[in-house]
Amino acid sequence: MVNSSLQTTMDKVLARNAGEPEFHQAVREIFESLEVLENRHPEYAAASVLERMCEPERQIIFRVPWVDDEGNVCVNRGFRVEFNSALGPYKGGLRFHSSVNLGIIKFLGFEQIFKNALTGLPIGGGKGGSDFDPHGRSDGEIMRFCQSFMVELHRHLGEYTDVPAGDIGVGGREIGYLFGQYKRLTNRYESGVLTGKGLNWGGSLVRTEATGYGATIFAEEMLKAKGKSFDGKRVLVSGSGNVATYAIEKSQQLGATVVTASDSSGYVVDEDGIDLDLLKQIKGVERGRISEYAERRGGKSRFVKDGSVWDVPAEIALPCATQNELDADAARTLVKNGLEALSEGANMPCTPEAIHVLRDAKVLYGPGKAANAGGVATSALEMQQNAMRDSWTFEYTEQRLTEIMRNIHTDCLETAEEYGHPGDYVIGANVAGFKKVADAMLA
Ligand code: GLU
Repeated sequence: MVNSSLQTTMDKVLARNAGEPEFHQAVREIFESLEVLENRHPEYAAASVLERMCEPERQIIFRVPWVDDEGNVCVNRGFRVEFNSALGPYKGGLRFHSSVNLGIIKFLGFEQIFKNALTGLPIGGGKGGSDFDPHGRSDGEIMRFCQSFMVELHRHLGEYTDVPAGDIGVGGREIGYLFGQYKRLTNRYESGVLTGKGLNWGGSLVRTEATGYGATIFAEEMLKAKGKSFDGKRVLVSGSGNVATYAIEKSQQLGATVVTASDSSGYVVDEDGIDLDLLKQIKGVERGRISEYAERRGGKSRFVKDGSVWDVPAEIALPCATQNELDADAARTLVKNGLEALSEGANMPCTPEAIHVLRDAKVLYGPGKAANAGGVATSALEMQQNAMRDSWTFEYTEQRLTEIMRNIHTDCLETAEEYGHPGDYVIGANVAGFKKVADAMLA
């Protein structure tokens, strides 16, 4: 619930964006958190900062025609929402998934504004993508789609303007096709126009690992603040893409046993701990299904088709798949099974009802805009290296990432305390992120 003046503004924003449930969900959460600012900061309300922030600076929707391997002409819809440039050039990933629509891109872009602000680096917020479904498509089809997508997108990009990266369905291969086409269309080797590039053409070490590593480091920081750690704990990870893979890797490095991974076909349980090399081979190299993991593990692991990883008992949960993948029932099961901490590797993986259950049960809850900021933070480090025409070592880059995640954690805790909600990472992240952007907008 929010108070009456905020409620009026929120109602206006929601009505203006009808039919966009995910965007509504993200907006509601911010309004609920920002009530604590009302009395102390009348300047924000006076300048309608929050209402302005909810309206993207620019929304681009475009046709993406491409030719499949059979010679059929296919058409998809492309999006780029340039949400907020108060702190720097628009920055945020591209998502290629059949579920993509304007509302989903807007929720992701809106979250990105606050997430990027929390990193403390000079990046604004944006997001883009397409309803193109890459599953089962050949390399040639992916390449032709990416090239066509960039034919329109390139005129809106630039290292000082808008800098996309990957998200679901967009990894190193797609960034390569997109960058090659941008270079051809503009005749500029503008490394800083896209992040997540390959290592020998302007990419940064640790960018691939960064989101998963960062979400795990954030969970470790939350536990540390309570005198606990990952060591010896059981961890649930959902997903088996880039974020999940490196959340598993970092959890294992911290001495935990990760017992699950999943994809849209089901999940696997491995009581001995996920064999990461096998998972990387099946999901990363072969682009196969998670059920093959259980088949090739020789009886050590089981594949479960129905239900979800949240049915499995563990102390730590790292949702790394997609939005709204963890509902109130799942949260209740996790709490009943002794969950201590949950850190969001994905964007908005917990429903609002699930978050209430976790917060009521005093589970340490790290919201995505803080917990998964390591990916975009390392993108900003990639931009720094591009601007310097330099490349840093793995050790140095990982050290920078770790420092950034620790700073975000401290910032959230201190802000929550300052505004009367000690230990509440949702209030901490939303208020700290909002204030950085709002102050820049006012200035
Ligand atoms: N897609 C990632 C996110 O949700 C990374 C964006 C980027 O690196 O620009 O934050």
